[in-house]
Amino acid sequence: MADDCLFCRIIRKEIPANIVFENDAYVAFRDINPQAPLHVLVVPKEHVASLNEATDAGLIGGLSLVAAQLAKREGVAEGGYRTLINTNRDAGQTVFHVHLHLLGGRPLGWPPG
Ligand code: 5GP
Ligand code: ZN
Repeated sequence: MADDCLFCRIIRKEIPANIVFENDAYVAFRDINPQAPLHVLVVPKEHVASLNEATDAGLIGGLSLVAAQLAKREGVAEGGYRTLINTNRDAGQTVFHVHLHLLGGRPLGWPPG
């Protein structure tokens, strides 16, 4: 937990968020500025700044499994969806608590910008 981290504060319920999933290791909530009809962020409760600092394969792999569960629950699993992690400047990472974006509900262009 980092005192000044936005997503740690959401995890601690100090800042409101539309939480769609929570267990002992992860929280998932709707992105405040959605880029698709479905745009959820899946975050580990443990503070890891970015993929560059990650060491726990299980923790990082679990982000994808939570996203897959949510994709099914939100009705986009069959049509398709995208999961991605932005890391550092060139990818446009703005919040330095690792998070996996789950995007769906519309055709998603490729390659991404
Ligand atoms: P990044 O650019 O770091 O991969 O993604 C950060 C995401 O967090 C952005 O999509 C942004 O819209 C979202 N975000 C930033 N601040 C908040 C917030 O206070 N609440 C929620 N729910 N999402 C946020
Ligand atoms: Zn954090």
